[in-house]
Amino acid sequence: MMINSFDKSHFAVISDNINYIREQMAEASIKSGRNCDDVRLMAVTKTVCSEYINHAINECGVDLIGENKVQEFLSKKDSLNLDGVEKHLIGHLQTNKVKKIVSEVDMIQSVDSVKVAKAIADEAAKKQLVANVLLEINIGSEDSKTGFDKAAFSEGLSEISELGNLKIKGLMTIPPICESSLECEKYFETMYNYFNDIKQLKYKNFDMQILSMGMSGDYKEAILHGSNLVRVGSAIFGPRIYK
Ligand SMILES: *Cc1c(COP(=O)(O)O)cnc(C)c1O
Repeated sequence: MMINSFDKSHFAVISDNINYIREQMAEASIKSGRNCDDVRLMAVTKTVCSEYINHAINECGVDLIGENKVQEFLSKKDSLNLDGVEKHLIGHLQTNKVKKIVSEVDMIQSVDSVKVAKAIADEAAKKQLVANVLLEINIGSEDSKTGFDKAAFSEGLSEISELGNLKIKGLMTIPPICESSLECEKYFETMYNYFNDIKQLKYKNFDMQILSMGMSGDYKEAILHGSNLVRVGSAIFGPRIYK
C-alpha cells in the first residue's frame, strides 16, 4: 500500500483543489498577457496512492503527471489509468537508472548534468527513439539542490547541443525557499531570461517550448513570470507523508 492511505472522502477534496488551482492558473495566465489555457498543470504524484491519482485523471481531466523516482513510477504505473496521460520524470536521475526509464516516460525534466544527458542520449539511440528532456537549472546555486549552476550550464551547452537522439524542449527549475515574494520573482525572471536567450541559439536538437517552474506555494507568481508548466503536488493531493 502506498502512503497517503486511501480514504474515499478525499476524492471530493482533490476535485475541489484541482478546480481552484485551474481558476487561479487561468487568472494568472490572463494577467501575464496569455490565454487562460496557455499554462499546463502537472499533478505531482510522488507518495500518492493510485486511487487518488486515477481520480485526478478520470474525474478531473488531469493529463500530465510527474513522478520523482524511477522505482516508484515503475511500481505504480500498472495500477494507473494512463491512456492519454503524459508522464514526466521530475526527480534526480542516476545514470544507472537511465536504462529503466527512457521509453517509459514522455519527458525527463530533471537533466542536471552533461553526464546524464549523454547517458539518456546513448540509451535513446539504443532504443531508436528521441528522448524529450528539459534541462534543470539550479537557479539559486544551492549546494542542496541538483541542476546546472550558471557556470556548468554555459560550459555544458555546446556539448549537449551535439548529442543525437535527444530533444531539449526547455528548462525546469526549483527556486530556493525565499524570504519575500520579491526575491522569488527575481529567480523566476532570471529563468525566463535564460529561456529566451537559449531559444535564440537555434541548436539543431533544441526546440525550446517549455518553461517548467512553479509548485504548490508559488505557481501563480511563476505563471506571472512566464512559466508555462506548473508542477503541483500537495496543493492537489494534500500533504505528503514519507515513510
Ligand atoms: C515534489 C515536487 C513538486 C511538487 O511540490 P509541491 O510543493 O507539493 O507542489 C514539484 N516539482 C518537483 C521537482 C518536486 O520534486
